[in-house]
Amino acid sequence: MTADVKKETLGFQTEAKQLLHLMIHSLYSNKEIFMRELISNASDAIDKLRFAALADDSLLEGQGDYSIQVDLDKEANTITISDNGVGMNRDEVIENLGTIAKSGTASFLESLTGDERKDSQLIGQFGVGFYSGFIVADRVQVHTRKAGESADAGVLWESCGEAEFSIESKVREARGTSITLFLKKDCEEFADDFRVRSVIKKYSDHISVPVMMLKPPAPPSEDGDAVSDTEIELEAVNEASALWMRGRTEVKSDEYKAFYKHVSHDYEDPLTWSHNKVEGKLEYTSLLYIPAKAPFDLWNREMSRGLKLYVQRTFIMDDAEQFLPLYLRFIKGVVDSNDLSLNVSREILQQDPAVESMRNALTKRVLDMLAKMAKAKKGNDYATFWKHFGTVLKEGPAEDTTNQVKIAKLLRFSTTHTDLEEQDQSLEDYVARMQEKQDKIYYVVAENFNTAKKSPHLEVFRKKGIEVLLLSDRVDDWLMNHLREFDGKQFQDVARGALELAGDSEEEKEAQETLTKESEALVERVSKVLENRVSEVRATARLTDSAACLVVGDFDMGSQMRRIMEAAGQEMPESKPILEINPAHPLAEMLDQEPDEDRFESLANIIFDQATLVEGGQLDDPADYVSRMNKLLVEMRQV
Ligand code: ADP
Repeated sequence: MTADVKKETLGFQTEAKQLLHLMIHSLYSNKEIFMRELISNASDAIDKLRFAALADDSLLEGQGDYSIQVDLDKEANTITISDNGVGMNRDEVIENLGTIAKSGTASFLESLTGDERKDSQLIGQFGVGFYSGFIVADRVQVHTRKAGESADAGVLWESCGEAEFSIESKVREARGTSITLFLKKDCEEFADDFRVRSVIKKYSDHISVPVMMLKPPAPPSEDGDAVSDTEIELEAVNEASALWMRGRTEVKSDEYKAFYKHVSHDYEDPLTWSHNKVEGKLEYTSLLYIPAKAPFDLWNREMSRGLKLYVQRTFIMDDAEQFLPLYLRFIKGVVDSNDLSLNVSREILQQDPAVESMRNALTKRVLDMLAKMAKAKKGNDYATFWKHFGTVLKEGPAEDTTNQVKIAKLLRFSTTHTDLEEQDQSLEDYVARMQEKQDKIYYVVAENFNTAKKSPHLEVFRKKGIEVLLLSDRVDDWLMNHLREFDGKQFQDVARGALELAGDSEEEKEAQETLTKESEALVERVSKVLENRVSEVRATARLTDSAACLVVGDFDMGSQMRRIMEAAGQEMPESKPILEINPAHPLAEMLDQEPDEDRFESLANIIFDQATLVEGGQLDDPADYVSRMNKLLVEMRQV
């Protein structure tokens, strides 16, 4: 497009319209956040120019001082926020401010709760910050010119926040962007010097560029003469030093929190943070935050993750994911290195050994920060963390074997100790409660918490008061495949292999032998009938209330993992379970005494199918099961 295109009027995308409508009519309880959003955008635009100028300093047009300026006009009831950052050309204005072709918009609309305060806070998180201007303004003007282009490449965008916006060429000498908000009648406060200064301080102290405002007129001097105000003097309103470069003791907790909101686009306070300067072989500063809530796209593979990367205070890129492992993808923050080159690229980051050692150190920092939080037991911070990010951290032992022990200590489980769904027991808690002769950490894995809690495999453990971890998250089978031991104790799936409890007395062992002997005939008969469905049938002492259960062979894949793989379309090799029968159960006794071979076969199949159902498994032939069952029920009436 050429620079001399006349004024044209374009329509917003449908989603943008909805969003604007929402902004204008309902997000009204926290008006001042528009300031945070617009200053944040201005500071990002300056960061972008600073970075681009590293490769081409002609973009600076001989003016390398960066600043943001806020001008108020009480009479016109306007506020103007200007920056000397990258600016935009005509196409970029249309792309960035007109179409909102951003996936975030739809998700934003979906996630609205109807709770205005919360909703307005969500704005920043979904990258629709610019539109927040319409909370306080009924008309917004953007005058911008891309750095490095001529003055007549300037563009004026304007909208009343309804269905359309207009765009036209307008000469602009200075590079960068000015956004003018024509304030609504009841938003006059944002044309007031005192009010605006306090809002800027609140939200923008940590931003590394100065936010300038006109110095307020000095009070009249002693002799009553007004001081001449012909000289325009600007002063910085915010602290304007990169927050992470300041000493830990100089930064107030509120400043850390405000900075978190700036880097994360989150609206809530973080749970905790860790700010460190490293000197020595490598020199870098890091500021890492643990959010209080999972972002809406935590499980989206394309979610943006990683830290904001700076090299010697120059912004290099957002979402530098090379500095933390995937299982810590929820961490937000900044890393500022003195060792990397200013024109470092993502590809280089992947291979740089300095990045590798920073990654190791930062990973340890995060794990230590979590350990500290877990230990503090202050409030419910760790429980909150676990609720939102526990399942992500469970990926850790597989991804990061070096830190396996540290991660294992951070894991939390449901166990039969409390029988509560809340995952709040640590492995250290478990080990401390282990019985004298117990040498293993027992666990059961199932589709969901209830199935786990009611698993027949737990019967003997409950009887003997041995604690079992109740696992039902999708990653749990995966986790347990990689977590082999803790504190010298091996993990044992209670549904896998032959049951051997270290605490078993001689009598118990003898009783088991007798049981096996006495059940030989029954086991033999059942094996014949179920030949094609099971790999083995055996008598067991692990059940007290149930008639039978399924056991996985020592080297077979767990049933939960199997189901997940199958659901994902993976072809799995055939593997048959072991059926264990409780000979003391009335059904088993009935079976043992059944003379009719047909009925015997029917009953044996029903017992097997039921053992599958109790595990939360699917029957191969549910119709067959139902018809056998119904036949039995009808026969019952005839007796
Ligand atoms: P976000 O900043 O989260 O991407 P916004 O709706 O706030 O979403 O802004 C949309 C886009 O408009 C930005 O990504 C940026 O490209 C552009 N933009 C906004 N403000 C400015 C500015 N002051 N200078 C240059 N570009 C800007």
